[in-house]
Amino acid sequence: MELERIDTGTKTVVLTESRTGHCLVRVGPDGRVTDNHPFLGAVTSPHRTTLGLVDLQVNGFAGVDFNQDTLTGADLDRALTAMLKCGTTRCLPTVITASAENMAARIEALDRAVGDSRLGPWMVAGYHVEGPFLSPQDGYAGCHPKQHMRAADEALFDRIVANLERPVRIVTVAPECDGVLDFISQAVAHGVVVAIGHTNATHDQIMAAAAAGARLSTHLGNALSDQLSKNENPLFAQLAEDRLNASFIADGIHIPPYMLQTYLRAKGYERSIVVTDATAGAAAAPGRYALGDLRIERGADGIVREPGSPYLAGSATTMADMARNLIEWFDMTLQEVVVLARSNPLALLGDSNLPAPGDAAELVTWRNGPDGLRVHEARVGPWRIAGHA
Ligand SMILES: [Zn+2]
Repeated sequence: MELERIDTGTKTVVLTESRTGHCLVRVGPDGRVTDNHPFLGAVTSPHRTTLGLVDLQVNGFAGVDFNQDTLTGADLDRALTAMLKCGTTRCLPTVITASAENMAARIEALDRAVGDSRLGPWMVAGYHVEGPFLSPQDGYAGCHPKQHMRAADEALFDRIVANLERPVRIVTVAPECDGVLDFISQAVAHGVVVAIGHTNATHDQIMAAAAAGARLSTHLGNALSDQLSKNENPLFAQLAEDRLNASFIADGIHIPPYMLQTYLRAKGYERSIVVTDATAGAAAAPGRYALGDLRIERGADGIVREPGSPYLAGSATTMADMARNLIEWFDMTLQEVVVLARSNPLALLGDSNLPAPGDAAELVTWRNGPDGLRVHEARVGPWRIAGHA
């Protein structure tokens, strides 16, 4: 079944897994919530409905790379349709390090594509800019092109994001880069969430970044050297810093499940978020794809690499895959998963979790298949799609 527009009638949905208990949500013919209130009756449906999942870091999906200045509205719709099918109703498409000119051209193309697409205006909450003020050291740089990394420069960043209709919501920086502490203060003053990532900062530098207003560790546990110092390393410094939330890629590839469990315990459930960091290789056949300037290869094993390099280059996972993983690995309830995959990311952005009247409907109905949790149907605004058979 393809994307379907439903623009007649009113629909009433009971959220069986809302954080505060059952909740009844009414949706008008325009795809917007008209009211919601607690529901005390019995739920008889075999399926469970939750609010949609929110992905704070996604570089591409379903064969489409968001880091191309040729991106069209039709391309973006193809990617967002596949994401919706996997339970995501809101996301921050992510632009990674490149030359300032290319970053600007790519994020402008992305912003135009959002306006030219059917799903973009409903699903794209803004952008995540990861770079270019990151560590060029081996391991820490990951797959980001080192030649384009540089000292923090607010004027340069302003040029990159100058012509956008939608806001940059998150910027990821490395605290040890020259000028980053001032940059963090400025970004925070403009309402942007600052994240730390691709960093070999000391404990003091991490604490200084948090004091300047940084609030997130980007895909913590990745973009690190294999030769970490026992005591002085950016991973433990970030795990120990309670002012930082942390995002994790729960695909079982970037971090083995037992390490993710350790990280979740250290960071605390209330500060943890899951992100896909997906690339064009997610929800796509094995083969070669692009990630900005890079060629990447998605293997049949679901691993996305730069061909010939030991480094992972984003993921091929989906929010629904990660939800299934968390339930299988850690015996989490669907309600607990929704906290990591919706409530916590929205709280970080300062956006409300439960939809208020006038907000877009974001609803995912789940069913339990023989191989675990599956999306049965997902809806955003007036758009609906069936999940995977
Ligand atoms: Zn990264």
